[in-house]
Parts: sequence; structure tokens; C-alpha cells
Amino acid sequence: SSWWSNVEMGPPDAILGVTEAYKKDTNTKKINLGVGAYRDDNGKPFVLPSVLEAEERLRQKNLDHEYAPIAGTAEFCKLSINLALGDGNEQVKNGLNATLQGISGTGSLRIGAAFLEKFFPGNKEVYLPTPSWGNHTPIFKHSGLNVKQYRYYDPKTCGFDFQGALQDIAKIPDKSIILFHACAHNPTGVDPKPEQWKEISAVVKKKNLFPFFDMAYQGFASGDVTRDAFAVREFVKDGHQIVLTQSYAKNMGLYGERAGAFTLIAGSKDEADRALSQLKILVRPMYSNPPIHGARIVTEILSDPALRQKWLKDVKLMADRIITVRSQLRENLKKEGSTRDWSHITDQIGMFCFTGMTPQQSERITKEFSVYLTKDGRISMAGVTSKNVEYLAHAIHQVTK
Ligand code: PLP
Repeated sequence: SSWWSNVEMGPPDAILGVTEAYKKDTNTKKINLGVGAYRDDNGKPFVLPSVLEAEERLRQKNLDHEYAPIAGTAEFCKLSINLALGDGNEQVKNGLNATLQGISGTGSLRIGAAFLEKFFPGNKEVYLPTPSWGNHTPIFKHSGLNVKQYRYYDPKTCGFDFQGALQDIAKIPDKSIILFHACAHNPTGVDPKPEQWKEISAVVKKKNLFPFFDMAYQGFASGDVTRDAFAVREFVKDGHQIVLTQSYAKNMGLYGERAGAFTLIAGSKDEADRALSQLKILVRPMYSNPPIHGARIVTEILSDPALRQKWLKDVKLMADRIITVRSQLRENLKKEGSTRDWSHITDQIGMFCFTGMTPQQSERITKEFSVYLTKDGRISMAGVTSKNVEYLAHAIHQVTK
């Protein structure tokens, strides 16, 4: 017998399974709203012009392919944390940040989780918003941390359950870890408003909770990297020693390049140095050192003022297309004669829209209209274009009227 006869078939990935089913469908009007990757108005993947230019410049430098340092290059790390906290921030100036390149957002989360599992002096439980990105629970559990929830999304309004969140956060045991999506919450597209973030920050402070920020969409939400960093910067300003993960998958379209960063804000430069030394010790046996190409592109873009400006325009273009197509979807639902309140489509922000469609309606829209989405009613706005928005509105109306 084989060594592996005991291995059972595992379930397919919930999101990648949607794409599989979509590929098999022969309906010419089919739409894939499952994937979390930006598409242009022709439904095609988009390589940012600023990224193309960065690659061209790199080509001319005739670089070698030697290993990166365990933590990635110091320049990449500095540019990344400055993008999050803003140029000239006190933390970087005083050497309080321990930043390393991670394998995009996911890998950075995994490193952060490993570090907390080993060194966090408080309650090793992570509180996630309900719902949260599907990979958060497995990442933290895989690292040996317990995962619990706090209220976040209100199905009645398809908006933020502010009171519910505050009530739940106030009940979290002191010195626990609490995770926040910095902007463009996935899967709901629902973000707290700036005033609400301030109140949340105060409660987190009062309860002595430890804030973990996952920032996978800086710039991609509003089109403005500063605005999207509001929550992170506000918490830091309020004196929280946050940890932060960043990803360049969405805002630079570098999905497969796996460029991202993990940062821990320490109490002193000495403490930051010690934390970084331990982070490197965690990375070394996991994957030794991070991939270089994506990080080079990021470095090229963020370090050159002209190219950076070009990139900021590219991010805005992507965010604006998503925002425009949200309005178009809402208008077309009205034109179809839907009397339901669809204001959440334009209130929500970022890649995803939590439509409020039930699992039954989601199933029906796939079966009858070849519109593919996850069962929770989440649609990727990136899959909506000026060409398919009318058909999509028609389909949504038919299954929700
Ligand atoms: N965190 C959230 C909330 C996300 O939505 C994603 C991507 O979908 C990630 C992290 C990490 O993505 P990546 O590992 O591709 O950077």
C-alpha cells in the first residue's frame, strides 16, 4: 500500500471554485464576479503604466538575481512604511518601526501571526470582524492563535454595525489582539467613517487591546493613498503600538509578484531592533528571503517622484472605474424597476460589494443568468464593466424582486 492512502480529498477553495464553474459555462453573457483582481472596462487584467515604466527602467539596469536580505531591502521597507504612515512620520524618524518585506499581504499576515504567537505578552486571541476575509481565520489558527469575532456588518442596512461593534469590542478581554481592515473591508466593502474610527480607537485604548491592521487596498478604495491610510495613521497618532500588514497586489496590480510588508511599531529603537532580529529568525526557516522582482518595481515607483505621481494616477484610475461602475449598477437597477434600496452599492467601497442577495438568490442568478459569485452575495465590482452592467442589473432585479 502507499504511504498516502490515508489522505482524504479536501474541499475546493470557495473562491477559486467559482472561477472553475465560470470557465465551464458556455453562455456568452456569463460574468465572473468571484475573483478579487482588478479588470479594465473590457474585463481584462490591467498592467499599470507606471509598473511598465518601472520594469523598463529595471531592464536597463541589468540587475542580477542574487538573494534579497532575509527582511528584504532596507529601502523597500522604508518606502513601504512611509507610504502607510506618511513621509516624515515620527515613528520612522525615531527608528520605532521594525519593517520587513513579506510575501505579499498573506505572507506578511503569516509572519505577524507567528511573531505574536511567540512573543505577544497579552491574551493570544485574535478578534476578527464578522465577516472577515476568508483567509484570516486559517492564517491565525495555522500560527497557533485562537480566533474569535466581533460584530461588524449589519445585514439589515448592508452597512457598518457601529453600535454592535462598540458593544462587542468593549467585552473583549483586556490585552487581546483585535484585527481591523484598514480600508476597503473584504468581503463587505463597508468601512467605518473617520469619526467612527476615532471612537473605536478610544475604546481599543481603554480596553488595552492590541490593534493589528491589515491594509491590502491602500489607494484602491478612495483613489487616494492618504485618505485610505486614515485609520492606521489615526491609531498611531492616538499612541497605539500597532502592527501592520501591507500588500501591493491590488494598488500596483502586482498580484503574482508577492510584494508586501509587515511592520511592528515598538516603544524604542532598541526594542524595534530586537523585534526585527526575531522576525528574521522566524522568516529564515519558513522561506529564507522574499522574492525580488515585485519589490524592485515597488522601490522604483515609490522612490522616484515623477514615477510615483504616475502611479498615484494609475491607482486613482482603478478606484474611479470601480466607483463609476457602482453608480451605473445602481442606476440600472432603478431603470429595471427595482424598488429596493440599493444605496449600499455606492456607499460601500473597494473591490467588493456585499449585495444583500441571499444564498438562494445567489444560486439562482448563477443558474439562470450565468452570473458567478460567492454564496454570501459578495460580488467583485472589478468584474463589472460598462458593457455588462445592464445585463447584471437585469439579472439581479429578476432574482431579488
Ligand atoms: N487581506 C485582505 C483583506 C485581502 O482582501 C487580501 C487579498 O485578497 C489580502 C490580505 C492579501 O492578498 P495578497 O496576499 O495577494 O497580498
